[in-house]
Order: sequence, then structure tokens, then C-alpha cells
Amino acid sequence: MLRLGCEAIGVDCEMGTLMLADGRAVRNDLVVIADGAHSRLIEDFTGYPSAVSPTGRSIYRWLVSMDDVTADPDLRAYYENQLPGFTSWRDPLNDIFWVNYTCRGGTVLNNAVVHETQAGEGEDDLWHSSVSKEQVLAMLADFHPTTKKIVNMATEDGIKVHHLFKRPPLSSFVRGRALVVGDAAHVMMPTHAAGGAIAIESAASLEVLFAGVHGKDAATVAQRMQLFDQLRVPRCNLTMLASNAGPLWLNVPGVEEEIRRFYHGPLPPAGCLPWSKEFRELLFHHDEYGAAEQALAQAQVTSHRL
Ligand SMILES: Cc1cc2nc3c(=O)[nH]c(=O)nc-3n(C[C@H](O)[C@H](O)[C@H](O)COP(=O)(O)OP(=O)(O)OC[C@H]3O[C@@H](n4cnc5c(N)ncnc54)[C@H](O)[C@@H]3O)c2cc1C
Repeated sequence: MLRLGCEAIGVDCEMGTLMLADGRAVRNDLVVIADGAHSRLIEDFTGYPSAVSPTGRSIYRWLVSMDDVTADPDLRAYYENQLPGFTSWRDPLNDIFWVNYTCRGGTVLNNAVVHETQAGEGEDDLWHSSVSKEQVLAMLADFHPTTKKIVNMATEDGIKVHHLFKRPPLSSFVRGRALVVGDAAHVMMPTHAAGGAIAIESAASLEVLFAGVHGKDAATVAQRMQLFDQLRVPRCNLTMLASNAGPLWLNVPGVEEEIRRFYHGPLPPAGCLPWSKEFRELLFHHDEYGAAEQALAQAQVTSHRL
């Protein structure tokens, strides 16, 4: 059963008890903490201050109609008769990264401009502050005039800015009767568009590992939580650290060493660029259903042998 409108304000991980804003305490066999980047529960999970810290980077986001885009003869060439995927433009000198792709069945173009946070912008609401076209155009001053037409197509008040945050990697995603998934566990920069995807993988893992498990069977619940941790900590931390390193990812000094604290599987060769074949193989071709089924089968063989 899904209960909407229940704000959680704390969790006792050892007891499996959620404290709700309405004063109730709800005890569960398993608590899955999934309250996002600005998680309120994560400090109860880690036991130490775990607030996100600003990265100094922010994103301008806005939507435009593809009818407007393709009505412009200069812009049309970027999008008509192209393979599916996204388009990106960069200003390496000013470290600005603009990515756009169609959504809603190809009717809308979603734009995201990752840039250095400007003084004062986005401070009234970290997620949904408005920013003027003039400010965005000033940021994009060195971009080709054709691309800038997409900014002018935004509706008044249609461009939003929000700040990007990060948190140090967790060495475990399980504690007592609680486990943590998604941005609460591994908020990351959107460089590789992987934060949501990796959270969905964790959901797939939970689906496989907990299928048919009775909540009162504490030993099996604990065993499945350990398997979850073994499966997800390496992969999620790999993805987060690679994403936080930016488009140069493994080429940034120290990043591979940090990743190796958690992940010991294959990595693409040195110098491999984002979105190259080896990169896509590692980040986007992972089969978590298969991985979880294999881990479960292996654990069952081991327990029969004991
Ligand atoms: C600009 C940007 C672009 C992105 N693009 C991509 C992309 O292209 N591909 C991709 O895979 N990922 C992308 N991501 C990342 C993706 O959006 C996140 O990784 C994903 O939404 C995380 O899911 P989540 O369920 O962990 O958290 P959320 O989606 O944040 O969900 C958390 C939920 O918890 C609820 N909640 C919060 N606090 C409480 C509380 N105290 N009590 C009860 N409920 C609570 C919230 O209301 C919300 O429903 C992008 C992120 C950003 C910022």
C-alpha cells in the first residue's frame, strides 16, 4: 500500500521505526530510505552530519516547442533526420556545458546548461528559481548565434536555475533494518545522466532480492540486505564518482584511485572519453536483474554447502 502525504522526519535504523511529521512512529521489517538529494533521514542512517555541499555548479533548464525549433531554418539542421540521442555544445574556456534532447514524443526540446554558479542566482529556491533570458544569454555569450535562438524561444519566466550538490561516498548502504537508495545515498552531478538510472537499477535489485521474502524472517532479510550492499555500493559509487569528476571523468587525477576504494571491476582504457563505446558499455549496459539473480543463486549455493 502506498501512503501519500506522510512526511518522514526521522528513522531509527536498528528498530526499523520511521517517525512521521504527524507524530506517529511506524515500525517496519525493512525501511528503504529514498528521500532524495536533500535527504532528511540520511543523518539518522550515517550517524554523523551528512548535509550535501554545493559543488559551485548550477543548471539553467527550460523547455521549448520543437515546432518552434524546426520552423527556424538554421536550427532545423541540428535536429531533422538525425539519429536519436542528445545534442551538446561546450564552451571549454568558461566550463559551460549545454545539452539538449527531445522528449514528450519528440514535441518538446529539453535544455540544460551546466555552468559556474553566479552570485545571487538560485538562492531563493534551490530547485526552482527563475532566471532571466538576459542572464542566460550573457552566460552563453561565446556560443554560436544559432544556438542562442533556443534561449529566446523560452517563455517569459520559463528558465529555471538550481544548484548542484554532492556528498561523500558511503561505504555501506545498509544499517540495521534500513537501507538507502537513490540520491539520498549517492547524489551526483548530471554529467552522465546516470543518477536516476542507477536508482532504478537499485530498485531492480530490491525486486529480485526480496521476491518472496517474508518480512518476519529476519535472517533472510539481513542476508538479502548484505547482498544488496555488495551489489550496489561498488556500482553506485563508481557512477557517482565518475559523474562528479565531470566530462573528463577517469582522466581527472585521483578519480580512478577514489573509485577503486569501492569498485574493482573493469574500467575503460585510460583516455577513453565519455559516451564512447567502452564508456557506454560500463555505465549504461549493466543488467542489474541478471547481477542480482546471479548473486542470489551464488549465495544459495554457498548456504547449502555450509
Ligand atoms: C538537472 C538534472 C538532470 C538530470 N538528468 C538525469 C537524466 O537525464 N538521467 C538520469 O538517470 N538522471 C538524471 N538526473 C538525476 C535524477 O533526477 C535523480 O538521480 C533521481 O531523481 C533520484 O531519484 P530519488 O528517488 O533518489 O530522489 P527524488 O527523485 O528526489 O525523489 C525523492 C522523493 O522523496 C520525497 N521526500 C523527500 N523528503 C521526504 C520526507 N522527509 N518524507 C517523505 N518523502 C520525502 C520527495 O517528495 C520525492 O518524491 C538529473 C538530475 C538533475 C538535477
